[in-house]
Amino acid sequence: MSNKPPHPETISAQALGQGDVPSGGLVQAIHVATTYERDADNQYPNGLIYGRPHNPTTRLAENVVAALEGGAGALAFASGMAAAVAVFENLTNGDHVIAPKVMYWALRDWLAVRLVARGVKVSFVDMSDPAALEAVLAKGSTKIVWIETPANPLWTITDIARVANKAHGAGAILVVDSTVATPVFTNPLALGADIVMHSATKYLNGHSDVLAGILVTREADEIWEKISSARASGGAILGPQQAALLVRGMRTLHLRVRSASEAALKIAAHFEGHPNIVEVLYPGLENHPGHDIAVRQMQGGFGAMLSLRIKGGAAAAIQVAANVKIWKRATSLGGVESLIEHRASMEGPSTPVPEDLLRLSVGVEHVEDLIGDLQQALAADA
Ligand SMILES: *Cc1c(COP(=O)(O)O)cnc(C)c1O
Repeated sequence: MSNKPPHPETISAQALGQGDVPSGGLVQAIHVATTYERDADNQYPNGLIYGRPHNPTTRLAENVVAALEGGAGALAFASGMAAAVAVFENLTNGDHVIAPKVMYWALRDWLAVRLVARGVKVSFVDMSDPAALEAVLAKGSTKIVWIETPANPLWTITDIARVANKAHGAGAILVVDSTVATPVFTNPLALGADIVMHSATKYLNGHSDVLAGILVTREADEIWEKISSARASGGAILGPQQAALLVRGMRTLHLRVRSASEAALKIAAHFEGHPNIVEVLYPGLENHPGHDIAVRQMQGGFGAMLSLRIKGGAAAAIQVAANVKIWKRATSLGGVESLIEHRASMEGPSTPVPEDLLRLSVGVEHVEDLIGDLQQALAADA
């Protein structure tokens, strides 16, 4: 037998290769118990006490993602937002956070409204500009630098290693929202990030039927202990039924993500220069401002998210979305079915997103069907 560690494809396809120990089943049973029995000597024989801190099915989902990200531990939450918010839970009045100017909208809003209301200062900067980050990093008070790469919905690329260096120099930790890159294309912990966050609702589960979030840490340090105890006391743990669906979804992670990413590159290349399109935003295109960093940082693909800016503004963009027959008009991303969304309508009047922008999440349908449908939708609008 080879002593080489298994490849990521093998880890996810077999969910770490651990079947159900009592039955010999290839798939682990779902552990639904909310409480565990003490021995007569008053001890807990397996270290499992109660369902809010502990669930073996949830633990399996966490272990799979920790292995894919090369982390020391992982925690699963009831949603991506619950996971993201848990990172900021231990900050107090006077602490400082730096986040990207354009990023996943719901978290940007939470930082700007709810975190600020707790007395935490938040600076939103252009993460692709090294000088902008340095100008706001405050040694001692900056506790967390948060980045997202590729970032919603312009697919801006941030250099993880460079930002990690800067953050650590100021005594801050770097947390990366790697939902769009997925562990298939990027391992932020290996590039110097301290914590990686995934909305597992998206590619990790991949079937638009589970809401879940995951944090993975590089080290089981004091900050991680605090986040873990905050989840145990706050109760935002992912439930076992959802965790089992998530593990099932992750068994095909690499197949789905690679297929969707290859299709996204074809779609982006196909519609570049289309007479009804102002701009195609996709990091796999050579003219994308983050392309060179993406080539270095993302291995084997650029992800399956792209945006199209439509000639004629908001009304024309909404009309193109109205014309599609195969793409689904819906928010979210990372499922097997392709989605199209007029992003500014979702984010409201204070959005930094161009009003002519359609956000596309490419699924695993045949790429010719997806291209043909967009082509007829754009032509009908002309
Ligand atoms: C969806 C998403 C989130 C939030 O996750 P939920 O599971 O919807 O709570 C955070 N970041 C990114 C990039 C996302 O796409």
